[in-house]
Amino acid sequence: MAIDPATAKAIAKAAASVVTDKETRSKLLYIILIAIACGVAVILIPLYLLTHPLEMLKAAFADTPDDAAFIEQYKQENDDKVLVIGGNLTFEDAYPLPVVGGSVTSGYGERADPITGEAAFHYGTDFGGVWQSNIYSVADGEVVKVNTAKNDGYGNYIIIKHTGQRTNDAGGIETEVFYGLYAHMNDIYMFEGQSVKQGALIGLMGGDPDRDGNPGRSTGTHLHFEIRTSQDGTGVDPAGYIFPIPEPEPTETTETAASTETSAPETANSNESEETTNE
Ligand SMILES: [Zn+2]
Repeated sequence: MAIDPATAKAIAKAAASVVTDKETRSKLLYIILIAIACGVAVILIPLYLLTHPLEMLKAAFADTPDDAAFIEQYKQENDDKVLVIGGNLTFEDAYPLPVVGGSVTSGYGERADPITGEAAFHYGTDFGGVWQSNIYSVADGEVVKVNTAKNDGYGNYIIIKHTGQRTNDAGGIETEVFYGLYAHMNDIYMFEGQSVKQGALIGLMGGDPDRDGNPGRSTGTHLHFEIRTSQDGTGVDPAGYIFPIPEPEPTETTETAASTETSAPETANSNESEETTNE
C-alpha cells in the first residue's frame, strides 16, 4: 500500500511533537524516512513497468517466435545436431540451409541448362519453395553486395561475407571466411555494410517471371545459392559447408517459359548465366 509522502510527513510531525525523548525521536524519524522511501518505491516501480512494457518483453524473449520455430524445426529435422549458441543456430560440423524445408531442385555441378538445354556447369544449389517464403543467412557475416538493378542473371541478389564458426574434430571452434550469394530474391531485407547473424531473415524467395519484377534468368520460384571463396569468384561445392544438403529431386524440366528467356546473360561473368527451374 502506498503512503503519500505528504501524509507521512504530517504524521511524523505529529508523532515528534508528542515524543520528548531525543533518542526515541531520532529513531522515530528514521522509521518514518524508511516508510516514505517505501511509499515512493511502491508508486514508481509500477509506473516504470507500465511505461516500459516493450523493453520488458524484449528482455524476456530474446528470440522472435519465428526464430524459435525455425530453430525447433531444424532441431527436429537434423536429429538435434543443431546447437543454439547466443540465439544463433550452430551446427556441429556445418552450416544450416538457407531455407526451411526447401527441396533441392538442381544441385551443384554439370547439368543441362534449363533454358538452352545445352550442357552447362551449375555453380550453385537451387532450392525450390513457395514464392515469398523466407530466406535465412547460413552464418554470421556482413552484407557486401546488394543488387536490385535489372539484369538477366541473378535478378535481385545479395552477397554476404560470412565469418562462420564450426566445431572441428578436436571439439574446438574454428572460424572461416566464405561468401554466400543469394539470388532471384523477391525482396531483400538487407543493406550493404549491414552485419548479419546466422539464421537471420534476409529476404524472400522469388524468381517467378510472372510475379517478380526482376526475376533474373529464372523460369520459376527458387533460391539460387552459391558459396564462394572470394566475392567475385566462382561458386564452390557447397557439400563441404552446408548440412545436410538434400539430394536433388528428379528434375522435370518444364521449359514452357523458355521463349521469353533466350536472351544471353548480360555480363561477361559466366557465373551469372543463371538460371533454372522448378515447378
Ligand atoms: Zn541455380
